[in-house]
Amino acid sequence: MEDQKEIKVEQTITETPETPKTSKQKKPTKKQLVSELLAKSNSKVFIANWKMNNKFADIKAYFKKFNKLIGSDKTLKTMGNVLIGVAPTAIGLLPVVGMARKGILTVAQNVYHKENGSYTGCISYDQVHEYNINYAIVGHYETRTIFNLKEADVNEVVKSLVNNQMTPILCIGETAEEKDNGLTQKVLSKQLLNDLKDVSANQALNVIIAYEPIWAIGKSPATNDEIDKNIKMIREIIGSIYDSETAKNIHILYGGSVDENNAAEILTVRSVDGFLVGRAGLDPLAFYKIIKSSPEYIESEKILKSKNK
Ligand code: PEP
Repeated sequence: MEDQKEIKVEQTITETPETPKTSKQKKPTKKQLVSELLAKSNSKVFIANWKMNNKFADIKAYFKKFNKLIGSDKTLKTMGNVLIGVAPTAIGLLPVVGMARKGILTVAQNVYHKENGSYTGCISYDQVHEYNINYAIVGHYETRTIFNLKEADVNEVVKSLVNNQMTPILCIGETAEEKDNGLTQKVLSKQLLNDLKDVSANQALNVIIAYEPIWAIGKSPATNDEIDKNIKMIREIIGSIYDSETAKNIHILYGGSVDENNAAEILTVRSVDGFLVGRAGLDPLAFYKIIKSSPEYIESEKILKSKNK
């Protein structure tokens, strides 16, 4: 949660954010903090995937509102087990690093697995890491489709991240056709086996899995029963690849048409460790309401209110 330096929005909206090299910011020992947070089995993760949306003025307006909402929330401050991230386009990464208040992580939507070289159009994991961006979405179904990524390609990116103390948010999910043909388990197993090839159990604990049924993205969410069944299935697959401890502790998010109206209901599914949010994450208030809908938040709010009586 301490990943990025706090820079006041008012200061940065007209400025270019400092790079770690030119600032006095300490080098990222912060990964340890991230690991500690992910190591808390009750921690919840909320990532807004902006996809190819938001220009500079939109980012400015977003954080003017979102920073205020997050910053003034006493419950969130006392919780210490919520990870909140925003994933802009590549060109939006530095503005987000500069504008997002402390506690809001900047997440890359996609990175290439090579450190540098002749890879026109790519952005390397190492280039984002330089700005203390330690999280990257990997293998979102849109990325897999648009760039024709094979599971072996996704695996290379996952390995480049975990080998460099970064956290992949690995997206997996089945198509409507695969679901209708009873192939969900087969598809998820294949994706996990191939995407996590040569990733150790220890490293896997630092991977956040986002279960995103492709048929639910941009449409309407899966039912709670479907989410619970498939997330449990994913834990079983992880258990068979690694061990039961890894299966129990790995963070698995749900993604697919989550919004401020259905988030609380979906979070009653105890196997869900948070959300990867698309459309609703473009609205700072909606995203904030989604974060607030976790049972842990509601419980902490109650405790805080009773203490303040
Ligand atoms: C997504 O594409 O990752 C996603 C979850 O989108 P939406 O919330 O809009 O369905």
